[in-house]
Amino acid sequence: MSTSTNNFDPAELAKFSALAERWWDPNSEFRPLHQINPLRLEWIDRLAMLRGKHTLDVGCGGGILAEAMAHKGAVVKGIDLATKPLQVATIHAQISGASVSYQAISAEDLSQQEPETYGIVTCMEMLEHVPNPESVIQACARLVEPDGWVFFSTINRNPLSWAVAIIGAERVLRLLPKKTHTYSKFIRPEELKAWAHSAGLQLHDQHGLGYNPFTKRFRLHKFMGVIYLLAMRKVST
Ligand code: SAH
Repeated sequence: MSTSTNNFDPAELAKFSALAERWWDPNSEFRPLHQINPLRLEWIDRLAMLRGKHTLDVGCGGGILAEAMAHKGAVVKGIDLATKPLQVATIHAQISGASVSYQAISAEDLSQQEPETYGIVTCMEMLEHVPNPESVIQACARLVEPDGWVFFSTINRNPLSWAVAIIGAERVLRLLPKKTHTYSKFIRPEELKAWAHSAGLQLHDQHGLGYNPFTKRFRLHKFMGVIYLLAMRKVST
């Protein structure tokens, strides 16, 4: 892997590589990603219409979202800096027949090679794992075409998100392994929006994502206090 940016945390990448074999097991540590996937997929498709769109999934991991977008007719590339999840993604796509290409490259480097190339860029559950999320947001804004769509999701930073995403999800419900998340890396929506606005992206839609521990289901709702999703469009000049 070569990258001219150092905007990655080797410990984070190692964490995802260590779990990579279980990425497609819906009862594994990745269960939450499998559960939220139909919700985010339908939302992205409703707003940006995936069919035929050149789509980039930044921090794609084992390819849960990337493949689902390809099955909706998008032409998808997935990028990540953890090599094992990318290997799993590549093998899984060969088996499922999804037309996705995968590459180990940072968003920053790809944005130098392929500026304004994608109609849709997705960057989900990834920003809270990088040292400098603003740099990834700027890269996403460079990668997308004018008027194109950029979708982000991450975790809010407040006492409730600490209680729910770290204590609740990692210790009580054990939805995620311990130390999956670091509180200080959580991002408030105002912070993300301000970075995105200065990168030339305009907010178009936003939702929170809630988990009901009794029904064990996620749903999109208005409350953005814990996990939230933002749909943004690149302002055309
Ligand atoms: N976006 C996927 C996977 C989320 S898990 C989904 O929502 O289904 C977080 C992913 O971010 C992991 O695959 C991890 O390897 C990746 N990641 C962490 N830091 C990264 C970086 N600096 N550049 C690219 N990918 C990164």
